Amino acid sequence: MLNSITSLINGIKKPLKVRCVAEESFRRYGIVAKDYSDAVKKGKEKLKIPNNVKVTVVLEDDGTEVTDNGYLDTLQPHTTLVFLRPGEYFQSDLVKVVEGLQLLISSIKPEGIKEITQLLKKEESYEKLEMFSQLKEASLINIDAEKRQDDEDWFQGIDKKYKTKTAYMKYLAQRRIRSYFDSAKDQIQEEKDPKVKAELLGIFDKMKTELKKNDQHGHYFDRSSSKQKLCDEKGWFKCEGPFDEDACDQSHMINPYSSKLRRLGFMNWNLDHIIEKKREVIPKLVEAAKKKSGKKQLNHMEVYKLLFTKDNLKFVQYECHKKEARSPTINVDDFYLH
Ligand SMILES: [Zn+2]
Repeated sequence: MLNSITSLINGIKKPLKVRCVAEESFRRYGIVAKDYSDAVKKGKEKLKIPNNVKVTVVLEDDGTEVTDNGYLDTLQPHTTLVFLRPGEYFQSDLVKVVEGLQLLISSIKPEGIKEITQLLKKEESYEKLEMFSQLKEASLINIDAEKRQDDEDWFQGIDKKYKTKTAYMKYLAQRRIRSYFDSAKDQIQEEKDPKVKAELLGIFDKMKTELKKNDQHGHYFDRSSSKQKLCDEKGWFKCEGPFDEDACDQSHMINPYSSKLRRLGFMNWNLDHIIEKKREVIPKLVEAAKKKSGKKQLNHMEVYKLLFTKDNLKFVQYECHKKEARSPTINVDDFYLH
């Protein structure tokens, strides 16, 4: 705005660069213009475009069309303008980089890499270099590959016994579920009353049998499973949002099958117990065991449901994993067989 006012009052001229779209006319010429029509006039002179030819002026940077003084005034000095004759079309470097990126992601063709490398050599730009590093990472994406020999990069650091991505992902799910079992059982071991403790450990034995029957719920991360899985058949996982919200408003998603980086990033995703395991489920279970009258029996499947099933688990990215205490929701009576 200040630029605009001062140039109107003082007739300050702005240094600009002009170029044609044709590759052979890639050379840029410097002009100094006092306003838009002056820039068009001087640009045409430099580029040897006859005065009666109508031109379209666009920014070299991103292809934005410049049509008036107002916009011209907002441009930085030495901005490059591309003059297009009727019928000519200009694709900015930025668009080319984005299109190259899309080409590479969709088909990983070598010409995509070649084109982008050439563009980056032409000028130094941190934005474009950043895009290129994303591109290189994207080029390592090999979602469909399943066997070790088809995507060795993905398997770096993983025990040789895992021959497929699915086998390893299944193991990761089982490992998490087992850790829930172990930490809950450890909590029970702290119980002082031997009778209560024995009864509770009996519940854990029953749950262990049930976990075995369900293959420790490896199917949660197994994209090929016909049982309940948390991803689609390509391996895309969507964040289900914080425990107290219906959905993730940040559209978090990840495909750990796609690259080693994504596989490692997957460690930041959690199976969050909506009703907390440590602060709510286990203490209430202990309470139920203590209050139990002679005839009543503890319902191990109710505990199982809360600890290991989707009834009480939400799959969330770490930003959606709220750590604060939640209000108690379990009624001790829920743990008795009726
Ligand atoms: Zn989320």
